[in-house]
Order: sequence, then C-alpha cells, then structure tokens
Amino acid sequence: MPSCFIALGGNLGDVAAAFDSALKRLDAAPGVSVRQISSTYQTVPVGSSAGSVYLNAAAELHCRLPALDLLSLLQAEEQRAGRERPFHWSPRTLDLDLILYGSRLIRHPRLVVPHPAAWYRRFVLDPLAEIAGGVLHPEKRQTISALRGRLLVRPLIVRLTGGAAAHRMSLAAELRRQFPQVEFTVDEQAGSVFSQPLDSTGGTPGLVLWLGPDLEATGHRHRETGPAGSDRTAFELLPLASRLDLTAWPGPPAVGAVAVLQAALG
Ligand code: ATP
Ligand code: CA
Ligand code: CA
Repeated sequence: MPSCFIALGGNLGDVAAAFDSALKRLDAAPGVSVRQISSTYQTVPVGSSAGSVYLNAAAELHCRLPALDLLSLLQAEEQRAGRERPFHWSPRTLDLDLILYGSRLIRHPRLVVPHPAAWYRRFVLDPLAEIAGGVLHPEKRQTISALRGRLLVRPLIVRLTGGAAAHRMSLAAELRRQFPQVEFTVDEQAGSVFSQPLDSTGGTPGLVLWLGPDLEATGHRHRETGPAGSDRTAFELLPLASRLDLTAWPGPPAVGAVAVLQAALG
C-alpha cells in the first residue's frame, strides 16, 4: 500500500480545528489510514494578497485509493471546511495538497505529483521533514531532509540563467534589493551555462532559476520553431536538484522569482 504525504495549510477561521477534523475524517474513509502527523507550524504567507499568518502541517497516509480518488477526498474535505477560491492563493480555511504518492510521478490535468512546488517551500518541507526526512523525492532524487537542508544555507546562493543577458542582469538587480540574505549569481555571457563549472562563482547554488532559452544564442531558431520556452534542452542540462523553470510560471518571471524566494527562505 503506497505511503502518501499530504501538506495541510490554512489562514482563515479555526485552522487547527480544521486540520484535526479533516485528518479524523480522512482516517475514517475506506482505504485510507492516517499514520503520522507533524507538529503545526506558523508561517508568514507568500504573496501580497495572501492574508494573515498561516498554519502548516504534514501527514502521512496509507492509502489504497488511486491517486485521483485521494485528491477528490482531499478536495471534499476542503469544501467541507468552507474553502472558497476567489483568486489564486487567496486566504483559505483549509488547503490539502498531495505532496507524494509513494514514489509515483503523476502528470494529469487535475493532479501533478510530487506537488511541483513542494521541493522549495519551507512551509511544506519543515513539517514534512519531521515525519518524512529520509523519504526520497522521486523527481529531485534527494531526501526531504536534504532538500530542506539546501535552503537553510546563508547566504542562500541563487543562480539566474537562461533568457536574455539584459533580463538576467536587471532581474538580479531587482532581486538583490529585495533579498539581502541571498547571494545572486548571474551567468554573464550567452552560453556560459554550459561552460562554467557549477561552483565557479563561489558556492553551490541552492536554487537555479531558468529564464528560458538563451535568446542571444537561439533567437533565430526560436522564431522558426515556436515560442521561447518550448526548447527546454538548456534547462535539462541544469542540476536536477536545484533547477526551477520560471517560464512555467503563469505570470511575469520577476513575480514568480519573488514568490519562489519568499517560499524558499521561509
Ligand atoms: P499551490 O498548488 O501553488 O499550492 P493552491 O494550493 O492554492 O496553490 P488550489 O487552488 O488549492 O491551489 O488548487 C488548484 C488545483 O491544483 C486543484 O484544482 C487541483 O486539481 C490541482 N492540483 C494539481 N496537483 C495537485 C496536488 N499534487 N495536490 C493538490 N492539488 C493539485
Ligand atoms: Ca497549496
Ligand atoms: Ca491546493
């Protein structure tokens, strides 16, 4: 029976009571049993419209249900707790995310597992490390403890790569103002991502943020083959454990970078 890990979050109403009753009801559901529950953490919300302080926790479930059925169960519990979704990352009574489903990799319109943001969010990793520190993240090939440990280093080294050089530089300047506890390193030349040894800038980056195909090097080809971002070859060459594709972010990359860094710094 696969061991599954869920993340619990909320910042509206009696969140601790919502966690408690959701976990009791999940445990009572056929095919599901709750095996471990982490302590509850208070965290500062990510995003400017996200409201007041969050409570976060993690739990391990043993689950006989297919992953999509488990997701439906989690969503039913969110509904029961009065969850509304007026806008993305709005304040919520209860958020239940499926982080890991055994060692499965799932890509479905309703469900992506491992949860794509779990590996760099301290508000997920801190509680999860308490109950699943030694569990391997099947995509990043690192344990939960190791993923968390990478983010504890100060200054946190964050490398910006890909996209146009001017964009990399201006984004770095903007981020340096907002995140003094981070040391940003920028690949200065087109193609340097391939030629530079990883630690040539002074340390191993905890995060490598990719801004898209190198436009100086591949501008022509991309005009012919489709939108920038469709060629992820350069991305695939970046270190697996720390790479993050900012072109997959729904909004502007600068907004994505800020949200990612806030979550990663904790
Ligand atoms: P985030 O996913 O960044 O934490 P969120 O939790 O606020 O944001 P929601 O509004 O709760 O996002 O969920 C949006 C959709 O995400 C859901 O309708 C669900 O189908 C989908 N989804 C995809 N993968 C997962 C997952 N692993 N766990 C929970 N929901 C998921
Ligand atoms: Ca969430
Ligand atoms: Ca969710």
